[in-house]
Amino acid sequence: MESVSPATQHPEACLQLLLFLDKRPSSSEKNRQIRNYLKELHEEFPFDLQIVDVGEQPDLVEHFKLVATPTLIKIYPEPQQTLAGSNLVSQVEVWWPRWRISAEERITDPQSALATAEQPALGAVARSVELLKLQDEVFRLKQGTEELQAQLKFKDRLIAMLAHDLRNPLTAVAIALETLELMVEPKEDGRAAKLTPELTAQLIKHARTQSKVIDRMITDILQAARTTGSQLQIYPQKLDLQALCEEVLERFLSLLESKSLQITTDIPTDLPQVFADSERIRQVLVNLLDNALKYTPPDGTICVSALHRTTQKVQISVCDDGPGIPEENQERIFEDRFRLQRDEAKEGYGIGLALCRRIVNAHYGQIWVDSVPGQGSCFHFTLPVFRP
Ligand code: ADP
Repeated sequence: MESVSPATQHPEACLQLLLFLDKRPSSSEKNRQIRNYLKELHEEFPFDLQIVDVGEQPDLVEHFKLVATPTLIKIYPEPQQTLAGSNLVSQVEVWWPRWRISAEERITDPQSALATAEQPALGAVARSVELLKLQDEVFRLKQGTEELQAQLKFKDRLIAMLAHDLRNPLTAVAIALETLELMVEPKEDGRAAKLTPELTAQLIKHARTQSKVIDRMITDILQAARTTGSQLQIYPQKLDLQALCEEVLERFLSLLESKSLQITTDIPTDLPQVFADSERIRQVLVNLLDNALKYTPPDGTICVSALHRTTQKVQISVCDDGPGIPEENQERIFEDRFRLQRDEAKEGYGIGLALCRRIVNAHYGQIWVDSVPGQGSCFHFTLPVFRP
């Protein structure tokens, strides 16, 4: 803010004006006219003038609810008055005599003069602008707190869900071990349970597989905790997956048609709503459909389906009957910048699936591919069911 008069002192403080200007070249002539005119008036009767560049003081613009420039506001004596528009000079011409009279009254009338001394009007403006900024800040902080609380609630619920999910493989391991135990520990009557070597081998294999499942789940949880904490922020809300899938598919129809690809969908109407970030999940669906479209040869078929997998999870699948993915690379394709050599000639950077995994993990879900090379690929991911 630039000040024409030195300090806000008597008698200048008896008339206080604020002039808002903008720096567009097209405004320079209007700005010059009003500034020159105010200079003339200042020589005739001194007043306090603050000149504000609207670009630099958006809070003041907001405070005075300005809609045009130049705008001149008489702050004091009260009542506050706002003049704006292209004929600003002629408006000031009309009002100036009245402004001057009321300012002179403030000088001659000791009561008013006292009031003036107690009325640092421009200072009050600065304070209320400061207040506005603080109110904004409080609002932002409140919003931030609400978001954090929602995220904490989300994490609490998911931890409960994961604990529940961990129980299944753990129970399976426990049953396998208990059964094996029967073999080595004879019963009270001295007889040991009879288990064939095949069954023993099967039980051991089962226990191993289930402990791998547990290990995988724990890795996922740790990875998800890292992802949500640092890199990828999600804003989960109640989300209607069926509507989202339909909306995304709509965008793909003409592309699919141009490649003579068929699309089928199997999304139950009673699919429960999920708790997810719609923008992020849209990204996942778009990436998977993009890949299906890119890697499936003409006349192929793509299928989008969903199922309510457990009470807590919904599974979405995007399948195609394209070239498929060799078994040894079915995990690696989710790594950053990994592409199959076979597909190097096709457009892409190898980051789409890595991003999908980060997004799905941030929702404490899982993403994987089932594929038989030469027959096609099915990408599946899970999301938590929404619980009010
Ligand atoms: P991009 O498609 O940009 O290369 P992605 O991360 O989306 O990157 O995919 C990684 C790799 O996985 C691809 O390069 C491709 O080799 C393979 N891939 C992904 N989707 C499919 C699919 N539907 N069918 C066959 N291969 C696929």
